[in-house]
Amino acid sequence: MEIIFNSLVTAIVFVFGSAIGSFLNVVVYRLPAGLSVIHPPSRCPKCLNQLRLYENVPVFGWLWLRGRCNHCRSRISARYPLVEAATGLLFLLIFWQFGVSVQTLGLWVLFSWLLALSLIDCDTMTLPNSLTRSGLVAGLVFQVAKGLSPTFSPIDSVNNLVLGGILGAVVGLWLFDIIGFAGSIAFGQNALGMGDTKLAALMGAWLGWKYLLIAGFIACLGGAFVGGGAIAIGLLDRRQPMPFGPFLAIGAAIAALWGEAILSIYLHLFFPNFG
Ligand SMILES: [Zn+2]
Repeated sequence: MEIIFNSLVTAIVFVFGSAIGSFLNVVVYRLPAGLSVIHPPSRCPKCLNQLRLYENVPVFGWLWLRGRCNHCRSRISARYPLVEAATGLLFLLIFWQFGVSVQTLGLWVLFSWLLALSLIDCDTMTLPNSLTRSGLVAGLVFQVAKGLSPTFSPIDSVNNLVLGGILGAVVGLWLFDIIGFAGSIAFGQNALGMGDTKLAALMGAWLGWKYLLIAGFIACLGGAFVGGGAIAIGLLDRRQPMPFGPFLAIGAAIAALWGEAILSIYLHLFFPNFG
C-alpha cells in the first residue's frame, strides 16, 4: 500500500515539475524576444501551427511526435523535453530532501528561476532584469513565508529571516563586485557582467549569506575548471566571454540542497574545536 502511495506521489511531483519545465521553455524562448509568455498558446516555431493538447504533454508529447512538428515536419529541439525532464527530476530531488514544507515550495520557485536564467544566459549572454529583480523579491517573500510557517523554530523570527535575506542580497552585490574586480586583474577584462551581480543578489536573498558564499565558491571553481578546460582544448578563445550565470545557478542549487552538510564538513575540517 505504501509503495503504491509513494510511487503515486513521485509521479505527481514529476509530472508537476515537468509541466513547470514546459512553461520555463516558453519563458526562455519568448522573454528575451520581448514576447508575451502567456499568449498565444504553444506553437511550432516554424509554421506557427498550434500544438494539440496531447502534443503539448511534457516529455511524452515530444517523444510521441518523434521530435518533429506534426504539421510541417520541421525538427523540434531535444532541449525542450530535456528541460522538462530535468525540471521534473529537480522538483523530485527537492521534495525527497524537504518533504511537504514551505522549504520545498520555496526551492521549487527558486530552481525555476535559476533554470530559466541559466538557459537565457546560455542563449543570449544576458540575464534579464525582469527575472533577476522579480526573483530577488520572491526570495524575500520566501523568507517571510518561512518565518510564518510552523515547522521553523521561533528563533527564526520573520524579522530575522527577512533581514538575513536582505543581508544575503547585499553580500551578493559586494562579493561579486570583488570577484569581478579580481577577474579584471587576472584576465585583463571584467569577467562578470552586471547581470551576474544581480543574480548573486537574488541568490543571497533566498539562501542567506552563508550559503551564498558556498554557492559563489562552487560557481568560481566550476567556472574556472570548465572555462580553463574549454580554452585548453581549443573550444573557447581566451577573449571570448563565457556565460557565468549557469555556474552561479548550479552553485546555488548545490548550496540549497546540501548547504548544511557542506558547512558542517567545512567546520569540522578547519575548526575541529568549534563544536
Ligand atoms: Zn511546424
